[in-house]
Amino acid sequence: MKFDIITIFPEIFNAYLNESIIKRAIEKKIIEAKVHNLRDFTTDRHRTVDDYPYGGGPGMVMKTEPFFNAVETIKSDGIPRRTIMLSPQGKVFSQDMALSMSRENHNLILICGRYEAVDERVRENLADEEISIGDYVLTGGELPALVIIDAVARLIPGVLGDERSKEEESFTWGILDYPHYTRPPEFRGLMVPEVLLSGNHKDILVWRRKEALRRTMQKRPDLIGKGLLTDKDYKLVSEIKEEEG
Ligand code: SAM
Repeated sequence: MKFDIITIFPEIFNAYLNESIIKRAIEKKIIEAKVHNLRDFTTDRHRTVDDYPYGGGPGMVMKTEPFFNAVETIKSDGIPRRTIMLSPQGKVFSQDMALSMSRENHNLILICGRYEAVDERVRENLADEEISIGDYVLTGGELPALVIIDAVARLIPGVLGDERSKEEESFTWGILDYPHYTRPPEFRGLMVPEVLLSGNHKDILVWRRKEALRRTMQKRPDLIGKGLLTDKDYKLVSEIKEEEG
């Protein structure tokens, strides 16, 4: 899967893409990430990417032409791509969206805005989709682009060391992940739950499911009742309610 990122701050991507799991995914050629400096697609001597807003008002607006040049140049190799515009006004990104993107395996162009706004004609004519990473406003689309690359890439087969990780983690089954512990079994009187030391895999599975449900009920009650729970889960939910009074 190819990611083409259009930004005026290409350096931001170097550190993140050159570390850990994403670095290995790139080395293994499971994903490819190419960062394009928007200024390389300007046509004036000063490599101008922004201008004053028509109608007045604060801040600068990113110009249309460099984005058109960039997207057209990237697409000129004939490889199909979906173009995503990062914007706080877009659809809020989720694990489900990351999963669909990883399965659809479309190559993506990620347009990172900066300043007050991007000229509306870019969104209208170049973007297939507008995505937000949450209801807050950042200074630029670079972190959102990295968030999307990271969340999608780790769901592509072969990227994670142990494929089971993503099957058990938060949101995969519509609830949060269960609590995790590692050695030592006791630290300053703080104990690891007995059942995890028991070696009884059936009991461990039930305990994990129950604790995952318990913390979902405590931290994200909105996720319970979204239709993904089994009859056994609802039995555990009743038990938890009784235990918690
Ligand atoms: N004036 C714009 C508005 O209110 O919708 C915000 C512009 S913001 C300062 C500059 C750029 O940061 C945006 O063009 C977008 O690319 C990016 N950005 C900011 N917050 C974002 C978010 N929550 N999700 C995705 N991109 C975001």
